Amino acid sequence: MEVIEAADVMQQKAEELRQEGKVLGLVPTMGFFHEGHLELMRVARKHCDVVIISIFVNPMQFGPKEDLAAYPRDLEGDLTKARQVGVDIAFIPTVDHLYPEGFESRVSVEKVTKHLCGLSRPTHFDGVTTIVAKLFNITKPHLAVFGQKDYQQLTVISRMVKDLNIELQIVGVPTYREPDGLAMSSRNSYLNSEERKSALCLKKSLDLAREMVGKGETRSATFKQAIEELVHSHPYTQIDYVSLCDPVTLDDVDTVTGETLLALAVRVGKTRLIDNGVLGKAE
Ligand code: AMP
Repeated sequence: MEVIEAADVMQQKAEELRQEGKVLGLVPTMGFFHEGHLELMRVARKHCDVVIISIFVNPMQFGPKEDLAAYPRDLEGDLTKARQVGVDIAFIPTVDHLYPEGFESRVSVEKVTKHLCGLSRPTHFDGVTTIVAKLFNITKPHLAVFGQKDYQQLTVISRMVKDLNIELQIVGVPTYREPDGLAMSSRNSYLNSEERKSALCLKKSLDLAREMVGKGETRSATFKQAIEELVHSHPYTQIDYVSLCDPVTLDDVDTVTGETLLALAVRVGKTRLIDNGVLGKAE
């Protein structure tokens, strides 16, 4: 596996590989790999000749009071895991490489960014779209792989790619979970053992909602109330949002008919966790 730090070196390498007729796949990450990240790399491996990962904790997508400095990092461990799943190139730029002095541009998607996480993280998605657009330009992939765990992120990036005629395919990979159902996340490492138990309330909420759909419930308000009660029955939890919304526009819906996205964000202790599932769709 080749490790590249400089954006211009990465860009030139990608261009050469394209000229050779290779199909390039990119998996953008912030590192501290778990099986969910590795699954994305395996999917890219299946579809592409050359798998590129990026590891970059992007300051632009963190708010001033968020966990940028504390975000978990393990570069050596990550590189070992990436090698084991057959990654070809790890692009690990520094902040100065990607945001040199004088940087003043921003890619912004207007509407789907305003819902869900956008409510409490108003600048987050501009940071995501700006860095992902830069990574696309630097690594020139034919295909880029993202997790459905970050459903809104996947939606926002798909919107950007369509709106800006970026010539690549976006692939979404289902959420990878711990054996007890907790969605894998680098931020799970912040949880102490009591909080880890409470964190199960997110997956339990998805299961409860599916059960309610099975029983014929259609009122969003009823789903929300039941989920809020369930979450609050777990200690150390504080709800950021519980939303039932259209899976494409992310606009809230009053009734759950057809496919409906249930997305939730819950603070467990100081750790903000998210999860989601599409109701009315086979798992
Ligand atoms: P992150 O490093 O957290 O920014 O995530 C990098 C990529 O991995 C994003 O596309 C995430 O959606 C994806 N990802 C994170 N956790 C999971 C998971 N549990 N299952 C599937 N994909 C995931």
